[in-house]
Formats: sequence, structure tokens, C-alpha cells
Amino acid sequence: MIEIDGSHGEGGGQILRTSLTLALATGRAFRITSLRAGRPKPGLMRQHLMAVRAAAEVGQAETEGAALHSRELVFRPGAPQPGDYAFRIETAGSATLVLQTVLPVLMTAAQPSTLVLEGGTHNEHAPPLDFLERTWLPLIGRMGPKVLLRLERRGFYPAGGGRFTVHIEPVETLARIDLLERGRVMHRRARAIVSRLPRHIAERELTVIARKLSLPSKNVEVIEEGNSPGPGNAVVIEIISPHVTEVFTGVGKIGLPAEKVAARAAREAREYLDADVPVGFHLADQLLVPMALAGGGSFTTMPLTEHTRTNIDVVRRFVDIQIETTELDDGNVRVDLRA
Ligand code: ATP
Repeated sequence: MIEIDGSHGEGGGQILRTSLTLALATGRAFRITSLRAGRPKPGLMRQHLMAVRAAAEVGQAETEGAALHSRELVFRPGAPQPGDYAFRIETAGSATLVLQTVLPVLMTAAQPSTLVLEGGTHNEHAPPLDFLERTWLPLIGRMGPKVLLRLERRGFYPAGGGRFTVHIEPVETLARIDLLERGRVMHRRARAIVSRLPRHIAERELTVIARKLSLPSKNVEVIEEGNSPGPGNAVVIEIISPHVTEVFTGVGKIGLPAEKVAARAAREAREYLDADVPVGFHLADQLLVPMALAGGGSFTTMPLTEHTRTNIDVVRRFVDIQIETTELDDGNVRVDLRA
């Protein structure tokens, strides 16, 4: 039984999700204590519980402590079962994080799987659907598995109700990938999405982004989401280079002016462009699990976040892999995973 201290480093939900994912993939049981101790409302919240239930279903696992607000959980995985699943989060909790929890084990399963996920698709503090679709899944695809994502409707806080389907064609073993150079940026574009909100919110956001990133008007687009049950807004900036497409997002919320939502996302995109690395700081923490399961990989990224450092520590507990981080002369960091 692997003992995980949930208060370590970042002390958030990612320690739990990475543990679930790697327990499924390696068959190793774990106990996590002090769950989300670093957060104002510690313990299992609804969206974390959904990740536990989804992982338990796919991995035929036994659990202890899988209850709302629980601070301790035991997870004993059985034999993972590929197949058809539906995971529905009643609140606006992030459905993309649930997908990331169960996808890795299904990428090397004996049969294909189809997942239907419902909940939030564009949440703060979670990978937005556009990031999965344009950044993360294409890189997963380069490791071998074919993962097709089809968006039906977006879901925003607080109404939720987003829905998307993911079909997974697995492979026997994952191929390593290396993302050391960004190459010349080929294209930049931005979208602003509004659901049940005035179109001018999106237009104002795109004016800010176009100005800050020097985008011509043909590279910006307003999307009016017609099917989401509640109001919502997000901006999505895409930076396309030969080996990777990076996505930077801002999610609108009541009381935060549209211009600020846009300016924050533009600042993140600008920092990434200036850093001249292929992997942005969010992608960095999300590459560790697939690369560890592939038995190796490497990338260069911006200075490591606490999230990434914490994730490295959790990966090391489950997988016998060396993870080396080297600070480069320009302040960026190279991460190498070796079996
Ligand atoms: P907690 O509720 O304890 O804060 P959590 O379940 O929200 O935890 P985090 O520990 O904050 O989870 O992890 C969120 C994950 O979402 C991280 O992998 C992070 O990189 C990713 N993420 C957050 N924002 C973005 C973004 N804008 N684009 C891509 N990924 C993101």
C-alpha cells in the first residue's frame, strides 16, 4: 500500500487525481491522508468524489472513505475494464479533470472505450475543453492511441451541464515523445465564447487580445454557445508551432470585467511566447503522467510551478522512473524522464 500525504507541496486535488490515475495504470493500491489540506475547504469535494467514483468504476476498485468532505481515502484497484461509460457531474465541477483521471489506463487497455462526460467544460483551475482538444490530446495521439473528442455543448459555472464524448482506440505500449524545441510560431488565433450573455462581452475581450498580441481581425472569432443550460464566458488563445499547439484561457465570472479576463489570458500567452519554450506551465504538469507511463520523454518549459513539482513527487511514488529537472541558462527548465 503506497502512503500518500495529501498535504504535500501544492496540497490540492491533483495529488489525489494523479494517485488515482497511476493506481489504475500500475495496479498499486494507495492510502491518501490529509486530503486537499492546502485548500480553504479541505477534503473531498463533489468533483473530486466524481473522479474517485469514475476511477473505481473503470478500475473495478475497492474504496474506503469515498464520501463528501472525507480527509482520507483508500483505493485498491482491480482489473481495469475498457468499455462504455457515462460520468455525470451534477454540479459545474470539471468534467475534463475526470476524463484525465481515467483516460491514461484506457489508452493501453485491451479494447476500445467510449466515455460520455457531463459537467463543466470551461472551469477556472482546470484544463478547459479547448486545451484538451488542441494541446493535450494531440500530444497523447503522438504517443500512439487515437483519442477522438466530440463536444456536444459547453458547461460553465454555476449551471454546468456541458457534455462531450471521447472515443479511445488503445495501443499496446505508449511511444515516448520529446518536446525540446518550439520552432517558429506558425499561427496565433483567439476565440471568445459567450453562452446566454451579450455578444459585446466577447467582442470587447477580442479587442483586448488582438491589441495585446497583434492579431489581425481574421484571426479572432466570437462563438455564441446556444445549447448550454446557463450563462458563461471564456476566451481561448491558441499559439500554433510545428511540434505543439498551446492554449491559454480566461474564464469569465461575475464581477470580473471582460477586459480583465482577456488581459490575463493575453499575459499568459505573451509570457509563453517570450519564454521561447514548447511547453507552457499548465501543460508541464499534465505531461508527467503520460510520459511516465510511456517509460520516458522530455520537454523544456518555463520555471516549474508548485503543481508540477508536486506532481513529479507523486509520479515517483508509483512509477519506477527517474525524473530529472535541469535549470537552463535562460531560466527555463528541461525535464527528462528515464526508465
Ligand atoms: P483543488 O480543488 O484542490 O484546488 P483541483 O481539483 O482544482 O484542486 P488542482 O490541484 O488545482 O485541482 O489542479 C488543476 C489542474 O488543472 C492542473 O493540472 C492544472 O495544470 C490544470 N489547469 C488549471 N488551469 C488550466 C488552464 N487554464 N489550462 C490548462 N490547464 C489548466
